[in-house]
Amino acid sequence: MINKNHPRYNSLVLREKIEKAYDDGYLGKTAMIAHGRGEAFDYLLGEETSYPAKRSMYVAVARLLLAKNPVISVNGNTVALAIDDIIELAENINAKIEINLFYRTEKRVEKIAKIFKEKGCNDILGTNDDEIEYINNIKSSRATASLKGIYTADVVLIPLEDGDRAELLSKAGKKTISIDLNPLSRTSKASDISIVDNIVRAIPFMNEIVKDLKMQTIDLLEKIIKDYSNEDNLKDSLDSFKIKGDIKWKL
Ligand code: ATP
Repeated sequence: MINKNHPRYNSLVLREKIEKAYDDGYLGKTAMIAHGRGEAFDYLLGEETSYPAKRSMYVAVARLLLAKNPVISVNGNTVALAIDDIIELAENINAKIEINLFYRTEKRVEKIAKIFKEKGCNDILGTNDDEIEYINNIKSSRATASLKGIYTADVVLIPLEDGDRAELLSKAGKKTISIDLNPLSRTSKASDISIVDNIVRAIPFMNEIVKDLKMQTIDLLEKIIKDYSNEDNLKDSLDSFKIKGDIKWKL
């Protein structure tokens, strides 16, 4: 049990969730390393959602609300850290959820599908019995996608995606929205809208934005997208990194 007064309480709770997901058998070892990389970036960000991240989230929600077939891609880390918020977002924006694992095994997919089922989500895509196609006919395990989901999607939300896959989706003409704490990752660079924030803060914030933007006109949503430059916003995201804190050591 983590002491609530611990100065790193929130971060330790996330670690515990990642550790449990590994013990439960649906998270790979390297996913824990990826979490550590994210943690380090978040530390430097002051563990706060930056203004550029908020701006990109508004644009992302506008894009998702205007999409014809929006899909949220989920991997083990996303399930471990943000499953309830993801389900809420999918409902709010009428998006499908598709399982996509870097180290895909039938067992891991089955476990994740079961977790969603226990939460009342019965139509998860990317499961073992789903109809899977190869994007752009690339016969690679990273190019697989559900026929009803990412394969035919126009907009894909890709939290914590790997760079190869993000590039591939972009090349396939999908509008991609990444959530990645590293503004210099290939994923952040390859995406159309790059949200540089922790998934545990980003998805709940996006759910709040949906409430607002759902009331707005299509013209306004299109304007929000048109006025946005992802390159400029990524530069601003990079500028948000600062090392905060007091270096004096108190004995
Ligand atoms: P690239 O995109 O440059 O190829 P990569 O695919 O090798 O990088 P990984 O370490 O595999 O990167 O992917 C994990 C990414 O997810 C890292 O960039 C990390 O910063 C990010 N990440 C990890 N945990 C979180 C989190 N909780 N919220 C947001 N991003 C996270």
